[in-house]
Amino acid sequence: MAFKPANHIQDLQYFGEFGGVNPSISDSSTYTFLSAKSMLDTFEGNTEGCYLYSRHSTPSNLYLEKALAVMENTETANVSASGMGAITQVLLQCCAAGDHIVSSRTIYGGTYAFLKNFAPRFRVETSFVDITKLEAVEAAITKNTKILYCESVSNPLLEVADITALSKLAKKHHLKLVVDNTFSPLSISPAVLGADVVIHSLTKFINGSSDAVGGVVCGTQEFIDDLRNINHGAAMLLGSTLDSFRAASILKNLRTLHIRMQQHSFNAAFLAEKFEADGLKTVYPGLQSHPSHQLFKSLMNTKYGFGGMLTIDVGTQEKANALMELMQKRNIGYLAVSLGFYKTLFSASGSSTSSEIPDDEQEEMGLSPGLIRFSIGLDADIERTYKMMKTCMLELSIIQA
Ligand SMILES: *Cc1c(COP(=O)(O)O)cnc(C)c1O
Repeated sequence: MAFKPANHIQDLQYFGEFGGVNPSISDSSTYTFLSAKSMLDTFEGNTEGCYLYSRHSTPSNLYLEKALAVMENTETANVSASGMGAITQVLLQCCAAGDHIVSSRTIYGGTYAFLKNFAPRFRVETSFVDITKLEAVEAAITKNTKILYCESVSNPLLEVADITALSKLAKKHHLKLVVDNTFSPLSISPAVLGADVVIHSLTKFINGSSDAVGGVVCGTQEFIDDLRNINHGAAMLLGSTLDSFRAASILKNLRTLHIRMQQHSFNAAFLAEKFEADGLKTVYPGLQSHPSHQLFKSLMNTKYGFGGMLTIDVGTQEKANALMELMQKRNIGYLAVSLGFYKTLFSASGSSTSSEIPDDEQEEMGLSPGLIRFSIGLDADIERTYKMMKTCMLELSIIQA
């Protein structure tokens, strides 16, 4: 039976304290106890439904965590102040000095910089591999490897990870498979496919209004309890706590995610097909020409499509910059990083969100200077958008009439 993540979100019901249709926002950093004993029990994690201090947890954060856990089909979840806050706490929780990580080489720039430059300060080393080559992934595993890390759909090259196969490899070698699912919420359900931990930057599609930063780790009760442990938990001790007001606003936006993802995917698929027909080098997992098209199809929750992200390669950085500036001038979208906004966002990945990756490595992985990454918006009339984009490309001789 197909997994239906949006149904699970919709079935949750929380009322506000006066019968409000939205839950009340917890506006306190600390909580009172009627007895000293129950305070001690709460500190030791032995009480359900008691709150102590808002870095540990808040009712507003718990509502959002519950919704994200049912969306990802995990036992529970822990929200954090950013996607990087979620990623770093998982990696630091699972690894100690001397441990090793095998990671996809095409990942978010910040994650790459953390693994490449920061983690080695604590003697946690990472081997970067082509995640689409399972033999290369297995060959990189050592006796010290603790984590297999990837993005379901990678940034910015849109490579698709075979989560089912990777999870078998992870089990065989007793590793945790950690999947960043930021690019494909609802479309792909990594935990259903065998991932142990699923991470999102809530900043992107899930919140969808480019007004908040947040992150989440979805996993087993045991793992999340460990992250939150007051003596050795990375979530607790590194302190990347999400504010209750933001948790409440992100939860409200999460309720329309299923509609938004369908529109993002519809619009992106429309443009990808047109761009490819115009002779542009276009990468979109929904295109037959995408090397992992069949794989994505076999993993996806069909209804939500192939996502809102696509790339085109216009040859040079100069052309890419000229095109992006012209499209912004005509109000087709914004020259901005990030993704999941109602408006189309575009940036040249090599010189922006992936600039942490050295030029020679960018070239090796196929990240060319003329590559433009698009987060396609919720445009009501995508045909009109395409015509406006085409006019810009013709004017700059990026395509020929
Ligand atoms: C943006 C992003 C992150 C980091 O999230 P923040 O909320 O900016 O900290 C991690 N992974 C992916 C795939 C992203 O796009």
